[in-house]
Amino acid sequence: MAVKYKKKCIRCKKNYVLVTWRERFPTCFECQKNELNGEIDDPKMKKMFDIPDEFYKENGFLRSIKVNYIRYGGLSEPQIEAFKKTVKKMKDEKKE
Ligand SMILES: [Zn+2]
Repeated sequence: MAVKYKKKCIRCKKNYVLVTWRERFPTCFECQKNELNGEIDDPKMKKMFDIPDEFYKENGFLRSIKVNYIRYGGLSEPQIEAFKKTVKKMKDEKKE
């Protein structure tokens, strides 16, 4: 599993975010809340993004994918795959 670091959110500069080294602009759940609640029309995508709030709270990657989708209206295949894989992993971890 990727190593995670605690970084300060670049927007509020108050909350800490768990990020991997790849994340250059860590943003906390609170700051992304509005963007995350954006409208999603595609039923397939709606279903994919329909995961517990706590997943988005815990995982900045899931947040960034959803925000990207809402902002640009599309995702690449690898992004979708990575999203699903991450969700599955988190679900498996919760089960244990
Ligand atoms: Zn913040």
